[in-house]
Amino acid sequence: MALSLRAAASLAAPPPRPGCRAASLVRATAASSSPPAALDHRRRRRQNVSGEFFVDERCIDCSTCRWMAPEVFKRVDGLSAVAAQPSSGDDRTKALQALLSCPTASIHTEKPAKDILQVHSTFPLPIADDLPGVYLCGYHSESSYGATSYLIVHPEGNIMVDSPRYTPKLVNQIEKLGGARYMFLTHIDDVADHRKWAERLKCERIIHSGDVVDIVADVERKLTGSGPWNIGNDFELIHTPGHTKGSVCLLYKPLKALFTGDHVAKSEESDEFNLFRMYSRQSVSVQLDSMQKLLDLDFLWVLPGHGYRIRYEDAEAKNSAIKSLLSDYTS
Ligand SMILES: [Zn+2]
Repeated sequence: MALSLRAAASLAAPPPRPGCRAASLVRATAASSSPPAALDHRRRRRQNVSGEFFVDERCIDCSTCRWMAPEVFKRVDGLSAVAAQPSSGDDRTKALQALLSCPTASIHTEKPAKDILQVHSTFPLPIADDLPGVYLCGYHSESSYGATSYLIVHPEGNIMVDSPRYTPKLVNQIEKLGGARYMFLTHIDDVADHRKWAERLKCERIIHSGDVVDIVADVERKLTGSGPWNIGNDFELIHTPGHTKGSVCLLYKPLKALFTGDHVAKSEESDEFNLFRMYSRQSVSVQLDSMQKLLDLDFLWVLPGHGYRIRYEDAEAKNSAIKSLLSDYTS
């Protein structure tokens, strides 16, 4: 079978890199066992432009800073770097939000930023005017390779989608918004500090039984079978195996928003809808079958576990993108 350019490209260098927990753990272990090397990794990358902000050599290329503050951070020689120092107050705030969200604490300022406390208080971050009550949690965790976590504020109970890094400042901010009644875990890679959050917020955690291993054995609700399942009236959970056996997407029906975990994402280099076949740990063909399910779902927003969000103009554009992807992999 001849692969299309998109399918072939995803074999080579597919940023972001969902599910790559082993690589990040190896890196962390090497750093902690050798203090001098760890300090060395805090060196400013030479690819940064001169000035206040810089990225150090422990960057894992998760892309978080690049989509949070695209005016400042770019990918240079395979890792993130400051391509332009912030030139406005808005750019500076975004750069500091990226600094706080970086899973390896690889973003620095030459001197301590006096406005950092104010920036802590901006989290969780609203995403868009047509997504009221949907927030980006920030504070990404290295154990989930910098996966994105979201908070949905809803009258029937707030939902945290996947787990951010557990930090007291974020705890306070989320509790101001009412905490969380549920923590929905899209799949096993992005569970990070789920236990600490559950203990603090007293939320009910949900994961599919196909992804249950020791670290999530105590999760309160384990989905079985192929669904779909519901949380209240507004949320539907769709089983989308392929990336992992227990991958599940969450559809927020009134807002037409699909939280996809690592089932689907957007390529950094293009506007194309993509799956990352080299991380399809169960089976690419199973993942493609799961992709078919998205044709029947009514959504415009794709809120992924890694990388850039997508908003389609209409259902036709959404389905056209999915059909294009499917034809690339089957032609
Ligand atoms: Zn994953």
